[in-house]
Amino acid sequence: MESDSSTKFSPSKLDTYKNCPRRYRYRYVDKIKRDAKTVEAFLGTCVHTAFEKLYEAVGHGKLPALEEVLRAFEEEWSAGWSPDITIKDRAFAPEDWKELGRECVKIYYDQNKPFDGDRTVAVEKRVGFPLPVDGQEYRIEGFVDRLALGKDGAFEIHDYKTGKTLPPQSDADSDWQLAIYDAAVRQDWPDTKSVRLIWHYVRHGKSLVSTRTAAQLEALKGEIATLIRAIKQDHEFAPHKSLLCDWCEYRDLCPLWAHAEKVAQMSFEALKKDEGVKLVDQLAGAEARRKELRDKLRELDRDEEAVRQALIRFAEAHGVSALAGLEGEVSISEKDDYRFPTKTHSPEALEALERELRSSPLWKEVSHLDAHRFLDAYKRKEWPEPLMKLAEDLLNRYAKRTREKTVRFRRKRETDED
Ligand code: SF4
Repeated sequence: MESDSSTKFSPSKLDTYKNCPRRYRYRYVDKIKRDAKTVEAFLGTCVHTAFEKLYEAVGHGKLPALEEVLRAFEEEWSAGWSPDITIKDRAFAPEDWKELGRECVKIYYDQNKPFDGDRTVAVEKRVGFPLPVDGQEYRIEGFVDRLALGKDGAFEIHDYKTGKTLPPQSDADSDWQLAIYDAAVRQDWPDTKSVRLIWHYVRHGKSLVSTRTAAQLEALKGEIATLIRAIKQDHEFAPHKSLLCDWCEYRDLCPLWAHAEKVAQMSFEALKKDEGVKLVDQLAGAEARRKELRDKLRELDRDEEAVRQALIRFAEAHGVSALAGLEGEVSISEKDDYRFPTKTHSPEALEALERELRSSPLWKEVSHLDAHRFLDAYKRKEWPEPLMKLAEDLLNRYAKRTREKTVRFRRKRETDED
């Protein structure tokens, strides 16, 4: 059984687990090294290096010209560029990305020169704090892009983002990474009065600022402890499919993608021979036939209903309630029935009805356990802790735990096939 033995966690390590436990396992439990680098990450590294050099110079009382900072960026680019760096969107060549990086440096430089709005304490500074979880002490730490002191004496934690997304303020207000650094700074300098968290979205020339209260930081430590507990108890490290899979370096190992990755490299001849490909295509054929039959059945239902309505009209017109044909006979009867309000059409009426029934002795005659709803709510963890515990106890005592495999087919979209 796989299990994690880490005693140190960084925000990005914790994020990896939150986004996909399987990727976490490959990277931090199995320690499978992958050098795969995306152009987005490489561009970010080069811009960070340029800013590091810029602030080192500013710290020595020197204001480098924009050209010097751009040169630092370009030197880092030339030294680190390799054809192994992946570019997903083929509409852009390495030169376009390099130009974008230059533009990021230029935007930031023009907006912040002469860089006297604060005093830099350190760049690329390691910060952290100890966190006890279930009797074991863990260390939570990471690197602050730039730690500074504002003119009002507040610590400022600066983070540079070169991605194309400009997130809303609410994302900054709920971000973990810089909040963790905030807690670390307060730990190292206990007389700290206030800390500002500042994200520079350099592509957009826009900065987001947020702060955390002491209570929020305590709650954050609690959340981190819960997550560490979950990591330590996890032996399955289930893969979680998401948009991030597109940038995952372990797709060839991941049970959700390994076959697709292999198939993508195959020749047409090899594809035709692959047993997995053949089975998927057989299922595709079966699904297509099922759909065809379902459509046909729906059409037959419509035709049959039209005949039934015609029979009712015919019987009414001729004052009869039974009709004879060559192949059989038809009788037409009439009965009174009731239709209750439904959740879709009259939810208020349905609620009122249920309320009245619940307070009447009739309730126990007509109500029953909705096992599907019970399991659904339990799996989605919809209830507060005490109810979840109660549900778990009932499940343990009355339900039989099973594990079944299901096969789900998803047809490729036109563009995929192209
Ligand atoms: S490909 Fe997706 S699901 Fe698989 S390990 Fe990577 S992130 Fe997780």
